[in-house]
Amino acid sequence: IHEGGNDAEGPLPLGDDIMSGDLSTCPRDVDLLIVGAGLSGAVLAERCSRELGMTSLVIDKRDHLGGNCYDYVTADGIRCSKYGAHLFHTQHERVWRYVQEFSQWLPFDHRVKGRVVADDGTTKLVPIPPTQETVNALFENTDVQGEAEMQAWYDTERVAPPNGRSASNGEEAALSRVGPRLYEKIFRHYTKKQWDKYPKELDASVLMRLPCRTSTDDRYFPDQYQALPARGYTRIFENMLLGDPNVTIRLNCDFFRHRTNGTLPKHGLLVYTGQIDSYYAALGMPKLEYRSLRFEEEYVPSPPGGFYQELMVVNYPGEDVPYTRIVEYKHTPNQPRGTRDGKVAGTVIAREYSTDVGEPYYPVPNPENRELYEKYATLAAKERGVCFVGRLASYKYFNMDQAILNALEMFDNLRETGRLE
Ligand code: UDP
Repeated sequence: IHEGGNDAEGPLPLGDDIMSGDLSTCPRDVDLLIVGAGLSGAVLAERCSRELGMTSLVIDKRDHLGGNCYDYVTADGIRCSKYGAHLFHTQHERVWRYVQEFSQWLPFDHRVKGRVVADDGTTKLVPIPPTQETVNALFENTDVQGEAEMQAWYDTERVAPPNGRSASNGEEAALSRVGPRLYEKIFRHYTKKQWDKYPKELDASVLMRLPCRTSTDDRYFPDQYQALPARGYTRIFENMLLGDPNVTIRLNCDFFRHRTNGTLPKHGLLVYTGQIDSYYAALGMPKLEYRSLRFEEEYVPSPPGGFYQELMVVNYPGEDVPYTRIVEYKHTPNQPRGTRDGKVAGTVIAREYSTDVGEPYYPVPNPENRELYEKYATLAAKERGVCFVGRLASYKYFNMDQAILNALEMFDNLRETGRLE
């Protein structure tokens, strides 16, 4: 990849025109108007420009590129993510090939441990997702050795949903995989803290995100490709969008205000990546539910050995603390050079709290929200000249790679159906 001699570690300063949010200084006629400078918007702008030479205006109400992937380097030299840990992992060859074009990637097998009170009353740091080590540490008189014994352990613990049917909610999903004891220690309270709902109020799919292992593989994700961008995620967006004469960017720019005022430029396809219910707010339908996160960041000046905790993410699945996890960014291999070389004594930790106010992060997958979303999706399907794409607009709990794949496939589809002409 060509970084044009850009060896800055953090985000590039963006021009006054980009930051101004001023649409009067933009081209008056663009092929695409793209709302949202996150993954979906960036992929569509990039593909349409590179493959078809089409022009885009990308607008975002925030003051930075990258949506929730945005990261930056603190004054102390630590690369942090503004919106929480982002670990890239994929098994899609197409996505993996695509992201190579915009960054070098450093292999990083993400591992998580949970601070859990064992049956003997002591607090243990155990692998999550659960492995042989996890159950041996948590339960007394348990000494599982090997995959067959672990399978047998699950088999004695698990409780199948009634009448031979498949799991219809998160609680049934977890119980049918790990049984009540592990469920109580790892899943029940964590889920309540994360969603303000107990697992039985959520779709089975939420709890199925976390694998339950029989092997000793203690990586968080099973995917073949797991890596972090060498210069952070923000750089990817800079490489995708900046310096492309077909792409104009305006940050601090509120789509709805301009839509109301009639000050949007003339455009072809509108690519909308925001919340789908906000798009239709004027109709007065009920709002979709989203979860947000709040981070309590703390700079720890000189922890012993330079680190606060043993690994990047420690989960707190118990009721004893109100946060879900603590993230320590300094563990990532894509820290700025000096930090990696141990020249930074301090560390930044972020305690992560889930909340229902603030920037939307997660759609809340359950039958009520799905039903409501379907009503919005029906309206969206009737639109001509508007394409709804991404986690917020499709109300889907996409991982980063799924968001990229979905946007690439959307591009294929728009092209094949002639909607880009
Ligand atoms: N989960 C849990 N305990 C954990 C980790 C995850 O109960 O220690 C459950 C919880 O319901 C969570 C879901 O598994 O919402 C998915 O976790 P994941 O780590 O994929 O969530 P994300 O990283 O997207 O916040």
